[in-house]
Amino acid sequence: MPHHTSLIAMLVFGFVLAFALGALANRLRLSPLVGYLLAGVLAGPFTPGFVGDQAIAPQLAEIGVILLMFGVGLHFSLRDLMSVKNIAIPGAIAQIAVATLLGWGLATLMGWPPVQGIVFGFSLATASTVVLLRAMEERRLLDTRRGKIAVGWLIVEDLACVVALVLIPALAGALGGAGTGADGATATAAPGAAGVLKALAVTFGKVAAFVAFMLIVGRRAIPWVLERVAGTGSRELFTLAVLAIAMGVAFGSAELFGVSFALGAFFAGMLLNESEFSHQAAQDSLPMRDAFAVLFFVSVGMLFDPGVLVQHPWQVLATTLIIVVGKSAAAYAIVRAFGHPNATALTISTSLAQIGEFAFIIAGLGLALGILPKDGHSLVLAGALISIMLNPILFMVLDRWQAREDARIAANAEPEPDVVPMDIGNHAIVVGYGRVGSQLAHLLKERGVPIVVIEDDADLVEQARAAGLPAVRGNAANRRVMLEAAPERAKLAVFAIPQALEAGETIERLKALNPAITVLARAHSETQVRHLLQHGADAAVLAERELAYSLAEMVMATPPYRPARA
Ligand code: AMP
Repeated sequence: MPHHTSLIAMLVFGFVLAFALGALANRLRLSPLVGYLLAGVLAGPFTPGFVGDQAIAPQLAEIGVILLMFGVGLHFSLRDLMSVKNIAIPGAIAQIAVATLLGWGLATLMGWPPVQGIVFGFSLATASTVVLLRAMEERRLLDTRRGKIAVGWLIVEDLACVVALVLIPALAGALGGAGTGADGATATAAPGAAGVLKALAVTFGKVAAFVAFMLIVGRRAIPWVLERVAGTGSRELFTLAVLAIAMGVAFGSAELFGVSFALGAFFAGMLLNESEFSHQAAQDSLPMRDAFAVLFFVSVGMLFDPGVLVQHPWQVLATTLIIVVGKSAAAYAIVRAFGHPNATALTISTSLAQIGEFAFIIAGLGLALGILPKDGHSLVLAGALISIMLNPILFMVLDRWQAREDARIAANAEPEPDVVPMDIGNHAIVVGYGRVGSQLAHLLKERGVPIVVIEDDADLVEQARAAGLPAVRGNAANRRVMLEAAPERAKLAVFAIPQALEAGETIERLKALNPAITVLARAHSETQVRHLLQHGADAAVLAERELAYSLAEMVMATPPYRPARA
């Protein structure tokens, strides 16, 4: 292949193969990551056929890492982390320690030196955000307590990786790895403890300078630039500004302060995160990020030698067991030790029983610096592939168990005592206590209407009860939940939830329980209004139209439009 086309070939084969295999993996109900990695294996030098350019692939991968880390920073929420810090911080640290120790133990059995063992073990420690978020989203667990704990846990692991990415090159140089940096400069003779301390001090000095610079200059400049650009109204310029900030800060921080691309990008994301444009910025950078993240996974796959599966089957098995069993057991024990229920502990340990992008980043760095053998890299990859493939199966087993548990609990449980007064009648049932439902319930309560709230989210139920409203916890679609709100004696029900399709069926069921009840519903499109009316709602309010009316009223209340008083 002529050299000047190798970038194009790499991009084309990367995207086409990744798409085909990603779609296939999705079809087989596997994570598409598996498909992307296999696409890389096909494009790699260990399999026949197309072989991607070994120099270009890692550079494309680096852009993927920058954008991934930018995204991590953009979504990093100190508040989320703080709300679960008591368990997430010790939990993640203990789990990382256990995984690192197990990995190091295995490495020692294979006769690798300690430094290689630690890098290998650490590679196995951090779960993949991509895999975890998908699994949680599919099960609508993200807003639950256990979902929040798992995400907080992952944030701590991400932060540990960010720190490791800074420390590993410094330590590698000091401990006598093959090189001191991505530039491949060779380290001088291993200088011992003093050298390690010096290297660490220099690194921390650079990082501190970078952080100070970002907090003093970046924190003002970045939101300022974005605000100006957003003011121009050009969508294209805004997207470009977001990309320029992500890439510019990553590259600049590496050139000027010698810190990794990853740290720079993470910080750029974090600073943007504070600004009100963060949501838009996240949306805009998403397609680019997805595209380059795919190339990142492909290029990781290219480094994988499938031969490892045949040559070292036992090592592959042991690595997989560390990821799937060792780490999970540690997480399970920690969550239980903190007094959380069995179901919470099982969900958290299952969601963390895999490794992904961070493992690849750490292992890749270790390989480049000569502190992880080629076999170690392949083992990490094999372990990642297998654990990501196993993850949906583990979740399926967990779901089955959970369903049995739920049935058992439902069969034995007493109804929640005294939530809804026995003598309530002619009341209004408000379904959903979110932005709309909570306001509505208060307005009605002030006007003396008796209310019963039905809400799915435990925290919001607490809030409703604290405000003196009887509230039933659970999904209104569930018959038992609905019955607790005494619908047969209610005058009216308001569906203040955004899911009109879900509401339709529930309305039908409610009307069957009490044909005389008046049902009002919230809608967000004409189609939804029609759907709700068809399923028995007496009226549906199109939220966006009401908003327009309110805004129009406000305009008309402003002089000179305000009609002069007679
Ligand atoms: P918002 O869009 O902010 O008004 O929030 C809607 C609220 O409705 C959220 O708090 C949801 O937890 C809640 N919700 C959505 N569907 C249901 C349902 N089927 N049963 C009970 N609560 C629901």
